Amino acid sequence: MSARDVGVVIVAGGASTRTTGTDQGRLKQLRWVAGKPMLLHSLQTFQQRADVAMVVCVLPSSYAGDPPPWIFQCDVERMLISVGGKERSESVQNGLEDLPDECRIVLIQDAARPLVAPAMIDRVVNEVRKGHGAIAALPVVDTLKEVDSDGRIVRTIERTNLWRAQTPQGFPRDMIDRAHKEARRAGITATDDAALCERLQLPVVVVRGSERALKVTDDGDFARVDALFPLPE
Ligand code: C5P
Repeated sequence: MSARDVGVVIVAGGASTRTTGTDQGRLKQLRWVAGKPMLLHSLQTFQQRADVAMVVCVLPSSYAGDPPPWIFQCDVERMLISVGGKERSESVQNGLEDLPDECRIVLIQDAARPLVAPAMIDRVVNEVRKGHGAIAALPVVDTLKEVDSDGRIVRTIERTNLWRAQTPQGFPRDMIDRAHKEARRAGITATDDAALCERLQLPVVVVRGSERALKVTDDGDFARVDALFPLPE
């Protein structure tokens, strides 16, 4: 059996202020989508890998002490619960601190992307094993416009070389620990983890993500994920 050297941090610590609807008041990352609670999708998918030593689920502080019972529908020996922070970066840092030392490779996953596919995780891990960071991403195909507050187009942005970052984002442990430590020292937060490596010129590549791995941001995204669920990657 290959070494268990991969640690996963699933961030589900956000306040989910952009969803409303019938489940109003419940955090989106704990709501059901495509047949089960959103967070459970990625937790179970990552634990299918033999090289995963631990998955840390980062929950908002009000849930971390009293987690929902369904979270234990997994290999509980390889699952820890950590407490979320005010910003996503802080939630990731808390999760990183709880990963055991044997995790020399770290994968960071947004709970808000429930349909992460095993093949995407493979592509990320295969690159990280070469010694650099790697993130799932998709090339931009639409024409991009910068618009002012009145809705007037300011300019068109050249889309060649532009990619949309998804998760998982994977890194050698030393690289991501350093990137987060230095960002905290500098008082910098970011919406993804690769950005914290980029500012230190640490190498990160893109690998092919998936349209299925869309981020559930607003109410309509629940229906979109439900519709995509039965389709192959
Ligand atoms: O808010 P955003 O869409 O960037 O959130 C991406 C992911 O980060 C979500 O899974 C969310 O739960 C998580 N997050 C977190 N802690 C925060 C903010 C967001 O774990 N303080």
